[in-house]
Amino acid sequence: MIKAQERPQAAVESQGGDKARVEPKVSGLVGDRELAAVGDRVQELLATPATPEQVAAVNRQLGRYPRGMVAVGARCVCGNPLAVVTRPQLEDGTPFPTTCYLTSPEAVKAVSRLEADGIMAAWNTELGSDADLASAYRRAHGLYLAFRSALARRLGDDEGHIAGISAGGMPKRVKCLHALTAQSLVMGPGVNPLGDRVLDLVRRVFDPQVCRCAQPWTGTSRQENRQERQ
Ligand SMILES: [Zn+2]
Repeated sequence: MIKAQERPQAAVESQGGDKARVEPKVSGLVGDRELAAVGDRVQELLATPATPEQVAAVNRQLGRYPRGMVAVGARCVCGNPLAVVTRPQLEDGTPFPTTCYLTSPEAVKAVSRLEADGIMAAWNTELGSDADLASAYRRAHGLYLAFRSALARRLGDDEGHIAGISAGGMPKRVKCLHALTAQSLVMGPGVNPLGDRVLDLVRRVFDPQVCRCAQPWTGTSRQENRQERQ
């Protein structure tokens, strides 16, 4: 049974969005150097905002319009969007915690299979017994919040309603592997230990470095697809 990815229509029901509030000290897990790197990544993404072609591609991938999409956060080698970055507040003001969202149908399917195999229960147990993993997972949560805050500051979005809420069940539980995978794709390896693990596990069917897209990117090239800064 393949579970469809939850739709990000309402803030608290979105891809792994968790109502659990987290103590502010969690952000202490993220050092100054890491914060600077996150800020650089956000700046890089905002320097190449989503083009109409990319928005249209994601619309086709999801079967609905990607509200609040500010940039493609990761691409297949062919150029297709794999995960998108969504602003902390949608255009109508709706708070949106799931900043990194997996859109590639191939990736979504591969990750859904893992979830259907019941791997999340095992990982939740592991989180309860492996202090190092739990610590790395809390750090991933802190980095997720730092990423969204950097976005919010630059876009002038209010995070008041989603303070301390990340995605995927972080920081204490594993509830949505799609959200964790999206974070790994957007923020890079070494940020989310479980998102990285998912990518290793699905590599034979989904790999950002190997195009297996049913519909490879056909429009403009990767370079041409970028909007030049004026
Ligand atoms: Zn591709």
